Amino acid sequence: ERERLARLRFTPAVTLDGERVEMLANIELPQDAEPALQVGAEGVGLFRSEFLFMGRGGQLPSEEEQYLAYRQAVLAMGGRPVTIRTVDVGADKPLERALPNESRQDAILNPAMGLRAIRWSLSEPAMFRQQLRAIYRASAEGPVRLLLPMVSHGRELRQVRDCIEKVCAQLKSRGQRMGSVELGVMVEVPAAALVLRSLLPWVDFVSIGTNDLIQYTLAIDRADQSVSHLFDPWHPAVLGLLARVIQECREQNKSVSVCGEMAGDLAFTEVLLGMGLRSFSMHPTQIARVKQRVLRCDSARAAALVRDVINAEDPAAAAAAVGWGG
Ligand code: PEP
Ligand code: MG
Repeated sequence: ERERLARLRFTPAVTLDGERVEMLANIELPQDAEPALQVGAEGVGLFRSEFLFMGRGGQLPSEEEQYLAYRQAVLAMGGRPVTIRTVDVGADKPLERALPNESRQDAILNPAMGLRAIRWSLSEPAMFRQQLRAIYRASAEGPVRLLLPMVSHGRELRQVRDCIEKVCAQLKSRGQRMGSVELGVMVEVPAAALVLRSLLPWVDFVSIGTNDLIQYTLAIDRADQSVSHLFDPWHPAVLGLLARVIQECREQNKSVSVCGEMAGDLAFTEVLLGMGLRSFSMHPTQIARVKQRVLRCDSARAAALVRDVINAEDPAAAAAAVGWGG
């Protein structure tokens, strides 16, 4: 079986009825890019840049250090797209030392709803511009996609675009080389899913973070063991939101992928295909298995299945509808 999976490395993921599906990797450090390529990744769908910021006693990485890290990943992927997510610290990924703005009581009380991800970046503009400079500089070496975590309002997108404009002007005046960078948002807060139509004109692509989308939709802390049995991707509210986001992106001709755990979970491959998803980003160890599943799926059959799954009365019935017993 392992050998069969290994042989799939160079086989493109195509459904039985000829739909091409993109298989991307989630990585945490630049040195993860090369092994991801070895198992057939067609690009990096999520580079969690916060791992460059963690485990260093709260000391932030310099622009140069970040630039070298992003560049290493871009070069390793040899012309395939690399999606770099701006720092997503806070909540389950804390820095070791509280930064000035983090000492606020509310952030400590409920970190998942506090000053995390894009909120933290926008509250530390010097740090944020430094990261943007590093990312734009790395784009000189290959296609880069800039991904913003935890966006919940169009206002945040506008603020980011202002920062980008400043950074690009700065880099130009320094005479630094840059490639073109696509801009994307994570849809992982229900508010972003609900106002997606107003966000889409401002972005090139969307990446759905199901881990947080489930947490915030169901009000289940993803780090709290006492409610982990209620963290349920089969909940019709979650599936309904997912279907809606994928459909809206397709209607507006924006590329959309899923980069949460659901993308690498075989139980959801057919359901996601049926919703119209054609790009999956996952831990590299899952790529061959999910690809094998795609090769055995028929997208029309999958689309019919989705209706039953979303209309299911409860999570167990939804799972049963795709033959996963709930
Ligand atoms: C997600 O929320 O689904 C996601 C991919 O981001 P992270 O797990 O890093 O929060
Ligand atoms: Mg997330």
